[in-house]
Amino acid sequence: MKTLYYSHPDFLFHETGAGHPECADRLRSIAIALEVPEFSSLIRVLAPLGTEQQIRLIHPLFHVEAILAAIPEQGEYYLDQDTVLSPGSKKAAFRAVGAVCDAVDKILSGKADNAFCAIRPPGHHAEPDLAMGFCLFNNVAIAAEYARRHYHLERIAIVDFDVHHGNGTQAAFYNQPNVLYASSHEMPNYPGTGYPTETGVGNIINVPLATGDTGAEFRKKYSNIILPALRKFKPDLLLVSAGFDAHKDDPLSSISLTEDDFKWITQELMCCADSYCEGRIISILEGGYNLNALAASVAVHVKTLLGL
Ligand SMILES: [Zn+2]
Repeated sequence: MKTLYYSHPDFLFHETGAGHPECADRLRSIAIALEVPEFSSLIRVLAPLGTEQQIRLIHPLFHVEAILAAIPEQGEYYLDQDTVLSPGSKKAAFRAVGAVCDAVDKILSGKADNAFCAIRPPGHHAEPDLAMGFCLFNNVAIAAEYARRHYHLERIAIVDFDVHHGNGTQAAFYNQPNVLYASSHEMPNYPGTGYPTETGVGNIINVPLATGDTGAEFRKKYSNIILPALRKFKPDLLLVSAGFDAHKDDPLSSISLTEDDFKWITQELMCCADSYCEGRIISILEGGYNLNALAASVAVHVKTLLGL
């Protein structure tokens, strides 16, 4: 498989302060894990800067301007108790958006089969007019809307296996039947949304996991609910909100997945993408806060995307 891997040193300069789980070391640990010869066939791409126009596909101008205006010249500025801005946040956030839109261009023009975007800040909690939960702009939602507008795709699916519900992605597409949003997430946990009764216009599928659930329950719920819905939807493009914080060693959840479970879900999603959209998958990093677990899980995920 031709697999693109997006990264950029600028992602390290979005600083969140000492002790914050969403830190630059997350990407450093991923980079180290992917440096070994096994990953020599990855096509490494430096994330380009995205544009304000791309961000505005999802976020209104007043909101974008308010976030940019709040970026401090030094130190940190807290948008809320979790969500931090630092002098490097603009470039990091714009490169995160640039990475996912460039991946859409490259995958839809057939230059590669699939892509993994090792980006930060993450995006799935960012609602159209509210930054929250470590997220400034909603990268995966922007990618979906960019693909819809520029390539006129009729059906885009977003599968979100981050342990937290992607309230921002759900909000962006709640009334949009052309975008399927399917999420598995621990309940109760942050942000508190994601009940199965939240169904949008039939395009939202929320599958809560219970505290203590393991790979067995995770696989069962995907096999019984999310994967059949995905097959019924027949996406033209599959986007993945790839958060690895459902790992058993993650400090922000009480779900106990292993690397093997992340391999399994990656294979299942690839199988579905092969059936309906020529294997087109763009996987976008969301959470994952134990550095060793994150690095090992991303390594397995990317290895699977490579077809190794
Ligand atoms: Zn998460």
